[in-house]
Amino acid sequence: MSTLGTEQNPLLVAIVGSGPSGFYAAEALIKSEIAVKVDVLEKLPSPFGLVRSGVAPDHQKLKQAIKLYEKIADSSDFNLIANITIGIDITVEELCASHHAVIFTCGAESDRKLGVPGEDLKGSYTATEFVGWYNGHPDYRDREFDLSHDVAVIIGQGNVAADVSRILSKTVDELKYTDIAQHALDTLAESKLREIHVIGRRGPAQAKFTPKELREFGELTDCNPIVTEQDLLLGLESISELEEKSNVASKKIYDLFCEFSKRDIDNNKSKQCIFSFLMSPKELVGDSRLEKIVLEINSLSGEPFKQSARGSGKMIELESGILFRSIGYRGIPIKGVPFHESWGIIPNAKGRVTDNDNNVVPQFYTAGWIKRGPSGIIGTNRACSVETVSCLLEDLKKLDNGIKKSGADAIYKILQSMNIHPVNYDDWKKIDAKEIQRGEPKGKPREKYTYIDEMLSVTE
Ligand code: NAP
Repeated sequence: MSTLGTEQNPLLVAIVGSGPSGFYAAEALIKSEIAVKVDVLEKLPSPFGLVRSGVAPDHQKLKQAIKLYEKIADSSDFNLIANITIGIDITVEELCASHHAVIFTCGAESDRKLGVPGEDLKGSYTATEFVGWYNGHPDYRDREFDLSHDVAVIIGQGNVAADVSRILSKTVDELKYTDIAQHALDTLAESKLREIHVIGRRGPAQAKFTPKELREFGELTDCNPIVTEQDLLLGLESISELEEKSNVASKKIYDLFCEFSKRDIDNNKSKQCIFSFLMSPKELVGDSRLEKIVLEINSLSGEPFKQSARGSGKMIELESGILFRSIGYRGIPIKGVPFHESWGIIPNAKGRVTDNDNNVVPQFYTAGWIKRGPSGIIGTNRACSVETVSCLLEDLKKLDNGIKKSGADAIYKILQSMNIHPVNYDDWKKIDAKEIQRGEPKGKPREKYTYIDEMLSVTE
């Protein structure tokens, strides 16, 4: 047989997950010097992962990344096999038999738990559910969020918390020309929320927002950003953190909080978005649904950049009927693939998957949030995927066991035997075109299909 990576014997790689890290891995493989065929497997009928169903609808610029993914998908070496679930429709063992290597780029689909009593009360939601719901993700399409309360609480001060609280703070006019799902816009139009509390367990110098995202709260049509001057008093360790040149983003965040604290409240605005610090939920209380949150006041302890929140034992209560936990994502295990339970990632060495004994698992690679945890912006995934693909290409000789692989053909055969019809990239282009067409009369970039059956009916 010809050498692996030649036109006669191309390297066959299956990529599990069509989000940014999956596309960047495909790009790195297709642009490499060897001959490759890449099959990207996706659970939904639609590609692009969090760029489609995570990035906030009012951040359309961030979705420009899709333009690059479309170029990658145009390559004759790229193939999309969508609407199939690995571990259910196709096993990992079957992928190993059909392809020389498998790259897991399935992201972090679940949430970290707070671990406090009442966490699962009605009215207490994860950011994942809410973000998926307003972005029209089929898994969250039918969730119901009761926005008839005065007060909402968001736990966490990262960019997902910023997205959730901003969407709750905006008017319908500020959202109606985005690709927000219509069912979400209709519910938000009826919202009675007046106070949106965004609560951090550490101080204003440790908030994880990026400046651009926080600045947007100062520009909302009908919502005042509120921070008290008292809340902005810093300990010596936090002052020294902000003086560190490399920590310029945190300094900008702190300066923005200071600017918000000096603003006069505009009484013509009906909502307030209140940023509070040094508090951790201890209990969510309610009979059949959330009524109030017991919060413990924290202090910071530790050296600069290593400060952690320490409970003081002093509690306060905040009445609220709806709470969103936005404290970070975690991955979900795939049957047959090693998983680090406490970190919520696939254990790996620079993208080579490792087992419990730290031994490299042949054929298995990983990239993106499931490789390194849920951090960084969309572009961060490019370097992450490039690192993984470099390792994979270094291993080329080891991946060649002399046995002929059938790639996508083997996968199609298995699916056919189970009467499963995958969605290919041309099918997706039909769904895409129809969504864009549906958005046009409303002045929206697209009106997404939010049920899988609806998407599939377009491809027929
Ligand atoms: P994140 O940035 O890691 O923020 C998580 C927040 O939850 C932090 O404030 C963290 O506080 C807090 N937290 C964690 N455990 C907690 C607990 N047990 N109790 C209370 N608070 C807790 O995560 P994320 O907001 O989910 O964002 C994930 C990644 O996606 C980030 O890199 C983010 O920048 C990115 N993203 C970017 C955009 C954008 O570019 N527009 C939009 C959305 C997301 P500590 O700091 O104390 O741990």
